[in-house]
Amino acid sequence: MSASVSAKHPRGLYVLFFAEMWERFSYYGMRAILLLFLIDNINGGMGLDAVEGAAVYGLYTASVYLLTLPGGWMADNILGQKKAIWYGGIIIMLGHIILAIPAGSGIFFLGLVTVALGTGLLKPNISSIVGELYPEGGARRDAAFSIFYMGINLGSVLGITIVGYLGQKVNWHMGFGAAAIGMLLGLVVFKFGSAKYLSGYGEVPAKKVITAESEAKSGADRKKGYLLAAALVVFLAVLQLTGTIDMSTAQGLAQGAGVIIVTVSLFYFLFILFAGGLTAIEKKRVLVLIVFFIAAALFWSGFEQAGSSLQIFAERHTQRTIGTWEMPSSWFQNFNGAFILLFAPVMASLWIYLSTRGLNPSTPVKFALGLLLLGGGFFIMELAASQAVTGQLVSPMFLTLTYLFHTIGELCLSPVGLSSYTKLAPKRYLSQLMGIWFVAASLGNLIAGLFAGNFDENNVDQMPALFNQVALFSVGFGLLLLIFYKPVKNWMGGIK
Ligand code: GLN
Repeated sequence: MSASVSAKHPRGLYVLFFAEMWERFSYYGMRAILLLFLIDNINGGMGLDAVEGAAVYGLYTASVYLLTLPGGWMADNILGQKKAIWYGGIIIMLGHIILAIPAGSGIFFLGLVTVALGTGLLKPNISSIVGELYPEGGARRDAAFSIFYMGINLGSVLGITIVGYLGQKVNWHMGFGAAAIGMLLGLVVFKFGSAKYLSGYGEVPAKKVITAESEAKSGADRKKGYLLAAALVVFLAVLQLTGTIDMSTAQGLAQGAGVIIVTVSLFYFLFILFAGGLTAIEKKRVLVLIVFFIAAALFWSGFEQAGSSLQIFAERHTQRTIGTWEMPSSWFQNFNGAFILLFAPVMASLWIYLSTRGLNPSTPVKFALGLLLLGGGFFIMELAASQAVTGQLVSPMFLTLTYLFHTIGELCLSPVGLSSYTKLAPKRYLSQLMGIWFVAASLGNLIAGLFAGNFDENNVDQMPALFNQVALFSVGFGLLLLIFYKPVKNWMGGIK
């Protein structure tokens, strides 16, 4: 490791580390029990059926990532990152407090919307201050992001353990309340820490200089945006009127949201490709970003089933008793965070080791590996499910191994995906394209929710085929990427 990488990090990094750790405590803790709560009709849950519950899960988790777009915009243009994080954290905490009140589904949905809005404001901006701390970029910034990623996963493990336990063993709303306390601790850390160690970072942005030219350009862009929005409204109305989707149900709403996300992303990419004034090299790089977008959305659509279909499988079909004690099923979701904490340093050293020998796989190959590992994990689930259909509880080793595959896959794809977006995006579209990276996660979460709607108690014998479908999709796309990695790599135009 070079001296610059091991050199001491600014204290501000640790303020952000702990603030994000507590935010993720609340996010992953609450998410771990969300679907269980939504479909529970015995212990004071909401009692939705599997299709509706899974659609709400998908809509909620997708909104969290989608709202990072306005959240990033608010910070860039109005609030500055620090204020956005502070207000975002307060809104998240209020959201969890609302969820902690056992007052029916209306109040509960209000709580979910509140948490999603707050997270949109906090999540993208806390990462951008991490970047800001290292204006020189390079290996030290990468090292900082790895440390920060550890904070995310430490928070997730603590959150799932505590919120999952309280929610499943004591009372759902007690779990949601614990998430609120986690966020409160994050706010305290941020308030005191940022005053001392983050002054000068993420401050209120300077007013943008508006020229006649920039005004005319943004006016023209706005017009195109309105046209697209109008076309979308008409398209959705047609889908509704022809009975293709029914937006009076959660499932229909989630499908509608999927249509909007896919169309807007598609048009956005077409817009910058054909009307973005890009050079030939930049255009090729945007093509690479499109390939990575599709791969990432596909990856997250399998990976984020951690909180949906895999959670249902843990609850209904996995052997969890140790002596007389039964482990809360949500704790299985801990394997992801725990494996990250264990293997992130190993993987980072592996990439360094390989690159000193000129063997470091290229970014498209890493994406392909991520998808192949994801698929591998789902083949393991197919095996598990074919045992479960006979009515027996299966060994916890299946889910554990699946999470191991998925986590190594995440470590191949997620960090390089994020940094490739920062490197390949044409400068003037950087923040928007960073937003698009989160949109891929949003789409993935939505699909992960919608897909889990198939996991109904009356539908148990379908499970092996369902897991097999996901496995084939991800392995198929992974292989495709592996076959065509050369042209994709060439389009990157020398960027590693
Ligand atoms: N686990 C990571 C986080 O919470 C990445 C999640 C994602 O991008 N889908 O930040």
